[in-house]
Amino acid sequence: MKPCICDDVFKDFKWLNLKEAQNKDICPTKGVYALRLQIDNSDPFFLENKLKHTIEFAENTIKKSEWKELISYYSSRIQRLKQIEPLICPIIYIGAVGKGKGTLRGRFIDLAGHRHTVFYPIFCLLSTGWEIEFGYKNIENDVFKIENQFKEQYENKHGKYPALVKK
Ligand SMILES: [Zn+2]
Repeated sequence: MKPCICDDVFKDFKWLNLKEAQNKDICPTKGVYALRLQIDNSDPFFLENKLKHTIEFAENTIKKSEWKELISYYSSRIQRLKQIEPLICPIIYIGAVGKGKGTLRGRFIDLAGHRHTVFYPIFCLLSTGWEIEFGYKNIENDVFKIENQFKEQYENKHGKYPALVKK
């Protein structure tokens, strides 16, 4: 795994392969989580082409449905895919869960097409050969405050938020 200047922000996270993990592997507690690309080949042309292929796949798949409402919603998610810079940073998302009965395990399940804002970009990345890791850290109190601290620490390193996070 290629090192990144933001690695120390996520050093206490537990990381699991998104495709392989089962929901019982994720704690049913509150916390902050992140998604990162597993990048084993750091050839710029390879990565650029791979991401281009992902974006084409994402665009073509929705276009074929000819479903205007879906296309308008998913198009904004595709814009976020275009912001991924695999050569610069593998982290693509930071989120938190802590309201009501929400848990990290619940968000892991939501991400698999139930209800999560980055479901479609993640589906397209996995469908086009990327490996993704789901990382998390249990946090008891002030989860959203701590989520913002993580995002700020990340922003201090990279000058912006992860690609799939809407600011
Ligand atoms: Zn980074």
